[in-house]
Amino acid sequence: MKFNQFVIIGLGRFGSSLGRELINLGYEVLGVDRDEEKVQELSNILTHAVVADATEEEVLRSVGARNFDCGVVAIGDDIQASILATILLKELGVKKVVAKAVSDLHGRVLERMGVDRIIYPERDMGVRVAHQLVSPNLLDYIELSKNYTIAELAVPNCWSGKSLEDVNPRGRFGCSIVAINKPKGMIIAPMAEDVLAQDDVMVVIGTNDQIEQFQQSITGA
Ligand code: ATP
Repeated sequence: MKFNQFVIIGLGRFGSSLGRELINLGYEVLGVDRDEEKVQELSNILTHAVVADATEEEVLRSVGARNFDCGVVAIGDDIQASILATILLKELGVKKVVAKAVSDLHGRVLERMGVDRIIYPERDMGVRVAHQLVSPNLLDYIELSKNYTIAELAVPNCWSGKSLEDVNPRGRFGCSIVAINKPKGMIIAPMAEDVLAQDDVMVVIGTNDQIEQFQQSITGA
């Protein structure tokens, strides 16, 4: 399902960054915060920004929250407010509710409430940065499940000019290069004879272990 309209509750660092980026991507965003200053800061950037207490049902009704495809509760410190705003969005019938959690316990409560997606920004960013620090060629990665990952890996200099057949990640480690992002454009589902160059980025899919071994072979290359 493609979402076009987002309501973000809480315009702190996470909520405001999310809102700005969704606007950059061309989506409509309503921002709600009880802090007038935060709302003021974003009033010219978001589609609409209103000062309101999102723990009050009437308030969420009056801003038309139920008409939004996706609601993001980006309140952290005030766990009670986070939970109340989440329940209200769900009760109002917002199709997809995403909430930020600041601790495991907070996340478990949100999970019990049937939140569609729980985000742990600090924890996840810490994990991501740790991976990038120990693997200089790892540009980004997405965990598909507990065991499977998609990783973006920079091509090491010494692989420039080599074909996928030469590098042979599937034969050596069991993971597959599903795309090569070249400065001129993306090659999706590349062939064995496609050649890597220095500024290319490989998009690799596999189990965590396979990706790890492939990464190590790059670091040692
Ligand atoms: P961040 O790390 O994203 O800056 P945080 O985890 O520190 O945020 P808070 O500061 O508690 O989380 O909340 C984020 C925003 O949510 C704040 O701007 C705060 O004013 C707003 N907020 C908190 N409670 C409510 C509420 N009941 N209704 C509307 N906005 C709220």
